Amino acid sequence: MPPAGLPNAGASVADVAERLAAVVGASQVLTDPETRRSFEVDWTGRFGGPSCIVVRPGSTAEVSEVVKICRDMPIVTQGGNTGLVGGGVPWQSQPDQPGPVVLSTTRLDDLQPVDRVAAQVTAGAGVTLARLQSHATQARLNFPVDLAARDTATVGGMVATNAGGLHVLRYGTMRAQVVGLEAVLADGSVLTRMSGLVKDNTGYDISQLLVGSEGTLGVITAARLRLVAAHDEKVVALLGFAGTAEALAAVDVLRRNVEGLQAAEIFFEDGLDLVRSHARLAAPLPQSWPAYLVVEAAALDDPSEQMYGALSELDLPDTATAVATDPAGQARLWAYREHHTEAVSSIGIPHKLDVTLPQSRLADFEHAVRKVVADAAPGSRLVLFGHIGDGNLHVNVVGPDPEDEAVDDAVLRLVAEMDGSISAEHGVGRAKARWLGLSRSESERSAMLKVKRALDPRGTMNPGVLFDLSG
Ligand SMILES: Cc1cc2nc3c(=O)[nH]c(=O)nc-3n(C[C@H](O)[C@H](O)[C@H](O)COP(=O)(O)OP(=O)(O)OC[C@H]3O[C@@H](n4cnc5c(N)ncnc54)[C@H](O)[C@@H]3O)c2cc1C
Repeated sequence: MPPAGLPNAGASVADVAERLAAVVGASQVLTDPETRRSFEVDWTGRFGGPSCIVVRPGSTAEVSEVVKICRDMPIVTQGGNTGLVGGGVPWQSQPDQPGPVVLSTTRLDDLQPVDRVAAQVTAGAGVTLARLQSHATQARLNFPVDLAARDTATVGGMVATNAGGLHVLRYGTMRAQVVGLEAVLADGSVLTRMSGLVKDNTGYDISQLLVGSEGTLGVITAARLRLVAAHDEKVVALLGFAGTAEALAAVDVLRRNVEGLQAAEIFFEDGLDLVRSHARLAAPLPQSWPAYLVVEAAALDDPSEQMYGALSELDLPDTATAVATDPAGQARLWAYREHHTEAVSSIGIPHKLDVTLPQSRLADFEHAVRKVVADAAPGSRLVLFGHIGDGNLHVNVVGPDPEDEAVDDAVLRLVAEMDGSISAEHGVGRAKARWLGLSRSESERSAMLKVKRALDPRGTMNPGVLFDLSG
């Protein structure tokens, strides 16, 4: 269990709140339990606990002051609260303990004009992905990371989790887009590296160290991000297959034949049925298939000819192919994939296990995990989907009690046995901290802890995330 709130020597929560109010304004310090409630539970409903204060600083200078005032208190940094591993919310503390401070970054929403010469933009940590994307589009450029939580997920949260999403296949994860960072460290000092120099070999890359640090090393306040050319010509196809192995073989053909391929997503018959009844959608194809792919290509010139060429090489029956070249039709095909996360949550509180496997073992894993889940959680409902182009599957299990970790343990051990990673893109958070050793060696964990202790000697930045403190 992470440490409880430790108000600064002699200071009560009320004293701290008063000092915070002097910095950020009284309306940005939430002490009333009702107004704090939405900050205290995660998107899945599985993780959460009481905070003592929610504070919403509006500038980097204010973040620095907040961190200094709360220097002996645990701080949970929270962006859009769409994270799926319980890293951005407080934990269940003892009833007599006050809980951590939640530092919400949503007011750090400054978005600078696009630097078209460099094809870069500086965005505050609280800027949502959707706002960033539309800002880039207005400059005839594109921010290449995309995910279904785009209206709420923030730049800071996406950097902190090294978010992946739908276009990793072509553009890489968030890490590949970060060319500079500004952050407040645990002692309140401000670290700034925002020149945007693409080539700069002058020692340790501290900005990249903060990418994927999940709030454990400091509070990211702004990021300098790369943009790419806007590819307005798009084609989307939804394809049906006999199984995962056939879908993987198709991705291979598409990758080799479609230059602008930027998404290859998989889902299965049972997931499609759930999505259709949740979102009231008609069947996408005239016939059911065990596995489905949604693939997308985008380019300056219409990529549909290349897509049709690859599809004819695949020689799929008409009942397994739907292609859309217009935006409305493309959105219709994407909906079958994008509604999965919310459809799963509509049937209960899910155990969400986001994992990567070597591509060569993905089909075997898909079969094996069905058996492992049936054994570990009999009667549960398993929904699989994910970013197959990156070897990334989201294993969702609904049925076991949120506290019951038997199925998590069984699935993550299977992943490790098959040389995969226990977290592909959502991070470790609190949900998977106890299994970090399945993906990181003793020496790696030891080096990570040394970094953590050097930058956060009091252990106040998001305790319990990444590193398990329960043992
Ligand atoms: C419908 C849906 C679809 C999703 N699809 C994807 C997907 O395709 N790919 C993917 O990778 N993820 C996906 N996610 C997960 C989630 O959107 C990402 O993890 C996202 O990056 C979280 O951003 P956030 O602003 O909501 O962060 P939060 O949930 O607020 O926080 C996440 C973590 O980052 C830390 N953090 C947040 N802001 C900061 C900051 N400024 N400085 C330091 N630490 C910070 C928090 O402490 C926490 O550990 C999805 C979620 C939902 C609900």
